[in-house]
Amino acid sequence: MNINNISGENKTASIGISFDIPSEREIIAIGSPDRLKAYFTLSIENPEIEIRIRKLGSLVDEMNELAQSEADDKMQILAECSNGLCDIISEGQGNKSAEEYINALAELYDSSNKGNMLLNFMIFFILTNYRYNHRTLNSEWHVFVSSMKKSAARFAEQFNTCVSDMLLPFRNLPTVPESNVRYWNIPEQINASPTDLTVHIYYTHLNGTWQTAYVADDSFLAVLRIYVDMLKQANRIVSNCTICGKLIIKDKTNNSDFCSQECRNVHKREWTKENRIKNAESDVQNIYTTFYNNTNNQKRKLKRSPEALEQYNTLFNELKEKALIMKRGLSDDSPFSLSNNP
Ligand SMILES: [Zn+2]
Repeated sequence: MNINNISGENKTASIGISFDIPSEREIIAIGSPDRLKAYFTLSIENPEIEIRIRKLGSLVDEMNELAQSEADDKMQILAECSNGLCDIISEGQGNKSAEEYINALAELYDSSNKGNMLLNFMIFFILTNYRYNHRTLNSEWHVFVSSMKKSAARFAEQFNTCVSDMLLPFRNLPTVPESNVRYWNIPEQINASPTDLTVHIYYTHLNGTWQTAYVADDSFLAVLRIYVDMLKQANRIVSNCTICGKLIIKDKTNNSDFCSQECRNVHKREWTKENRIKNAESDVQNIYTTFYNNTNNQKRKLKRSPEALEQYNTLFNELKEKALIMKRGLSDDSPFSLSNNP
């Protein structure tokens, strides 16, 4: 896709997704509504659409990457450029003044295989919207200056509303406690989003099977909703890492609550620490420790008469066994009567 030269004819930027669950693949495409329709219904590819066929779940990785990239300002650049472009429309300036912003966005756009398709979509969306509003406004040059000004304000407003709606979910990500990291929280954010979203469903007959694609116009949330639902039907749950907050996909083979071995280790350490503190404070543990220490002292005293020690040890081991069984079945909240059980 030639991001520097997006035509002003299209009002809408679309994003489409299709799934091949048995092969663990997802197909994501961005482009104009007509071109995506041609691609998903007739398999017609066009240089002006961007298509990626990749591992199922990649979209979640991209969301994580964008959430983290707050630190390296990618979302900030998007917001600044869209504000700049909005001013150009509202002041009725020419495309020459827009170059600075368009170039900055084009630089962020990554058409390589590693490119983040979600970020690419937002850039494509901002530029499509800008070009359309700018071009439509320019076609009104023949009218009076006063009505031209009104039009400029209207187009700028239109552009601004559209772009803010798109960027809002990304700028409102919940912060993970005790860090400055922000990640998507799917249950929270999806349920807070509008409950009425529009998607096109396209079919095509490919390699002997029907393939379904979902295309949303100017909306990422609609695609995200479908994405999460489709994964759920394939027994995968999009969730957050209990430790760092990153989005993870849980499935039958990996039902872990953590994104990595690193976070699993952090959890293990915290768990052990918590338990040590809990045990240190536990009455049951204290009583057992007293019993163990007392008998050990006794054993030391008996060292000089091996026969008595052996007898003592046999008795001690029996008692220890009973004490351990009892200890395992007790907590500080257990009823006292239970402690009389063997
Ligand atoms: Zn983690």
